[in-house]
Amino acid sequence: MSDNGPIVDRLALIGVGLIGSSIARAAREQGVVKEIVATARSEATRKRVVELGIADKVVATNAEAAKGADVVIVSIPVGQSGPAAKEIAPHLKPGAIVSDVGSVKGSVVKDMAPHLPKNVHFVPAHPVAGTEHSGPDAGFAELFVNRWCILTPPPATDKQAVERLAAFWRALGANVETMSPEHHDLVLAVTSHLPHLIAYTIVGTADELSEVTKSEVLQFSAGGFRDFTRIAASDPTMWRDVFLANKDAVLEMLGRFSEDLSTLTRAMRAGDGETLFEHFTRTRAIRRGIVNIGQDSAAPDFGRPHPAKPTVSIPRPYAADDD
Ligand code: NAP
Repeated sequence: MSDNGPIVDRLALIGVGLIGSSIARAAREQGVVKEIVATARSEATRKRVVELGIADKVVATNAEAAKGADVVIVSIPVGQSGPAAKEIAPHLKPGAIVSDVGSVKGSVVKDMAPHLPKNVHFVPAHPVAGTEHSGPDAGFAELFVNRWCILTPPPATDKQAVERLAAFWRALGANVETMSPEHHDLVLAVTSHLPHLIAYTIVGTADELSEVTKSEVLQFSAGGFRDFTRIAASDPTMWRDVFLANKDAVLEMLGRFSEDLSTLTRAMRAGDGETLFEHFTRTRAIRRGIVNIGQDSAAPDFGRPHPAKPTVSIPRPYAADDD
């Protein structure tokens, strides 16, 4: 619960999928909003949000949701954020905070900012927390606990507005960090976007060996492959948009990755065990460092529970599966 009661009178959620519905649940649970007005693109999702009872009001259009809201959070695939900003702009209350949760920040700033009126505060954000599931049923109130929420406000943004949004995210359990959109996109390219690209690739490669897929790949997927399949189950629309929107940073990281892969390939071909051993020793130390600073559990993969419901308490900023 926030120390001083609600931080936001009326919160508008544009999009109520995994992230939007988790915000709704967490904000309610923590008592940080007086009223939540939500909308989604389809009638089916809006109906489901009504059934779940996670918003006070569910309306049919983005414009209607934005009217009179103190804080508007756009929680939709990043490719849609420009048109959504254009749609809500004429209906925004002066002094409102407009934010988002997109996994890429440079493109969101470029696409949303030009549409927004000067009398609102634009504070883009990215909660680095997620799962491979989508839709309003997938959300849960603890999703942001001990995770990072990165704010990327343009330099001239009103400090009080930034602090208010930061307080909102802290009340949801997140740790808040501020950085430039460019830096965000570079960091996330290596910690999240590239790992997702690798997962999508390797699972696709296995699938092309169709005779194997039908039997051994699935049967023996307890190895590293299983983790890749979980990441590669992430939402296709969201990830298509991420790779298109953060193309430059991901391509740069992919270039570095390919060079490193070539080094290991050469070592293998040459029977150079020393290079392989040194590399694996270095990466093992990185993993230990992550565990030591409490960003993940040291439990072996098979020692972990397989919860029906996600359990979240371990802070793992910038982990590969948190987009
Ligand atoms: P999601 O579960 O697929 O939900 C997307 C929501 O947006 C749905 O309610 C959808 O409505 C709605 N929507 C789509 N286009 C819209 C539009 N033009 N106008 C209004 N509503 C629209 O997606 P998500 O996982 O919550 O991701 C949302 C955003 O969060 C993305 O930008 C993503 O990059 C970011 N993010 C995701 C994660 C993650 O792990 N998933 C983590 C951090 C940040 P319908 O159901 O009716 O289509």
